[in-house]
Amino acid sequence: MAKILDGRKVAATLKEKMLQQFSSLKQTVKLTVVHCNDPASASYLKGRKKICEFLGVSLEEIVIDNSTTMEQISAIVNDLNNDYSVDGIMIDRPLPSQLDENKVLSLITPSKDVDGYTFPSLGKLLSNQKTHNSCTPAAAIYILDYYNIDLAGKNAVVVGRSVNVGKPLALMLLNKNATVTIAHSKTKDLHKITKKADVIFTCVGKHNFIKKQHVSKKTIIVDIGINFDENGKLCGDTAAECYDYVKAYSPVPGGVGVITNLMLMNNLYTAHLLKENNEDSL
Ligand code: NAP
Repeated sequence: MAKILDGRKVAATLKEKMLQQFSSLKQTVKLTVVHCNDPASASYLKGRKKICEFLGVSLEEIVIDNSTTMEQISAIVNDLNNDYSVDGIMIDRPLPSQLDENKVLSLITPSKDVDGYTFPSLGKLLSNQKTHNSCTPAAAIYILDYYNIDLAGKNAVVVGRSVNVGKPLALMLLNKNATVTIAHSKTKDLHKITKKADVIFTCVGKHNFIKKQHVSKKTIIVDIGINFDENGKLCGDTAAECYDYVKAYSPVPGGVGVITNLMLMNNLYTAHLLKENNEDSL
């Protein structure tokens, strides 16, 4: 019987730990989210609001739209950088097409980059220096840490290579001394690669993508996919046929997804400490 890597259990423990950390702070912590008010942002915001309320974090929203210019968003980000009350800045993507995403992200002061997607943060990750790690890959690793699954020397296969998830995840795994293979849509004979893996991290975004042919009895699956099946039910990338067969797996829902916002709060807490200590880098 496969072990379930229960994200809800991990999140419950982490939430209590973080509540203690945030409660011990003298000043209110503030997160500012710049977003476009679209349905995708709304669902992410709902989760963030909930955890911010729980931890006593102040959440400010700044709404932009198709008429926002580069000058205007630059001014918004500069103001947030200079605003002492703001600990962390998040800019929800995709941005409206008239805005240059990389240019906008690069304006964020690295110490306030709680999403971990600015080039300075990604560069530090590349050179294995302390930084704000992007939240989804950090959650995928945290769930294994919680269950004391050591990644050093393990064969880890990351299926997916987006800047959002796959690439930073692969770097974080390398930094944890895993032997990392990155697979993508042009990879040939994926099943031959994944079958040899100790841990498969799947971030493809396709329902029923990882099947029994991709796994072995020693496989641990960390499923990062968020999809909907033919009945509109939330699911990951892994087909149910794998569940009884593999060594362990994280379910969807109730796996990596429920930990992601806590990783954001963790970055925010670090950002607040940096500010208190007058430091601009981790
Ligand atoms: P993405 O940008 O669409 O990237 C998907 C990746 O999968 C690409 O690198 C693509 O390869 C690869 N891929 C597609 N078909 C493949 C195939 N047949 N074989 C091997 N690789 C294949 O998506 P994303 O932003 O990384 O997100 C991935 C999934 O994670 C989505 O379901 C998303 O909803 C979910 N997600 C979850 C969380 C969370 O908190 N749990 C957060 C963010 C995202 P190419 O590069 O070659 O196209």
